[in-house]
Amino acid sequence: MSTAFSEPTHSPDATSATDSHSSGSRQRLDYAQLAQRVLDGHEVTRDEAMAILKSPNDDLLAVLDAAFRVRRQHFGLTVQLYFLMNAKSGLCPEDCHYCSQSKVSDAPVQKYNILQRDKLLAAAELAAKRQAKTYCLVISARGPNEREMKAVEEIVPEIKAKYGLDICACLGLLTAEQAKRLKACGVDRVNHNLNTSEEYYAKICTTHTHADRVRTLHHVRDAGLEVCSGGIIGMGETHDDVISMAMQLRELKAESIPINFLNSIDGTPLQKTTELTPQDCLRALAMFRLINPTSELRISGGRELHLRTLQPLGLYAANSMFVGDYLTTSGQPPEQDYQIVRDLGFEVTGAAPYPHEEEAISFGVIGAKSAGGCGGNGSCGSGNCGG
Ligand code: SF4
Repeated sequence: MSTAFSEPTHSPDATSATDSHSSGSRQRLDYAQLAQRVLDGHEVTRDEAMAILKSPNDDLLAVLDAAFRVRRQHFGLTVQLYFLMNAKSGLCPEDCHYCSQSKVSDAPVQKYNILQRDKLLAAAELAAKRQAKTYCLVISARGPNEREMKAVEEIVPEIKAKYGLDICACLGLLTAEQAKRLKACGVDRVNHNLNTSEEYYAKICTTHTHADRVRTLHHVRDAGLEVCSGGIIGMGETHDDVISMAMQLRELKAESIPINFLNSIDGTPLQKTTELTPQDCLRALAMFRLINPTSELRISGGRELHLRTLQPLGLYAANSMFVGDYLTTSGQPPEQDYQIVRDLGFEVTGAAPYPHEEEAISFGVIGAKSAGGCGGNGSCGSGNCGG
């Protein structure tokens, strides 16, 4: 079998330096060759994924170039923008340790039940105005109750008819019947994050299991909905856990993969746990791109916090990001996101047609859908909520 690894350059011990991000003796990947092999249909192996995550900082541009070759092949220079709406905040009976809305969090987040129609519509208008492709309707819950299901069934057709936005619903664990109802009312996609590996899951949540989440994703797929599922990096997991998650998403054929970088919020069990560098985040994004070459890859919560001045580089691997705030934390002003896209020479694609064009923010949108159109692809990644 051919390999993208080259011989060690300085030491016969190929793995001796692999815990460091400094350059030195190690078995190096030929990143360009790996990119070409991925484009030819190769599935990245665990060893190759590990080599990417452990690659030295002075390989970073080569790693990103490999990811970019694959990203460009499938998504060109386009960027999709997504808009998050926290339609029900706090009040969650689950104990996801990273989440400020969980029952074990003391973080001072807003608490409210599912919002009324006018507020959900106003958010949709803002999403369209901000050139979002998809409106991500999120509730904090173990799963939706009947009242919440009915609210979603009522608002989704209205939002689609008025604003032409794709809809991604992030409602927690779903039954097969609930997934079918979401499909029937016009939801395009459901977000439900794996968040981490099966092995590590019990360390970040005890009120439901990784298997519960996978079951929901199968219900979503069986209902004919697209799957949006990703995770959170920086929760104390190992590289192996991150790789396992990326490979499981490949098996699940997730159309959309949101990658969050833990924003460790005071009052949550995971406060002050993250030690990510911008380079760590970029290596992770590159690895997800190479393992999941055709999936939408979204830089999600923690982008501004962890990538900092290197945010633009993330879009050489990812092809999507949120515009505006996350669920319980603030994003940077949208104008800064548009500036990143412009400065890269990339273009926003798939934006819903804002009906009041004179008020729309104009920054080179391509591929806008026809008014009222539906059936397009959407995606949702929720800041720090796995839904
Ligand atoms: S991540 Fe979602 S399910 Fe978990 S505690 Fe937060 S709101 Fe609840």
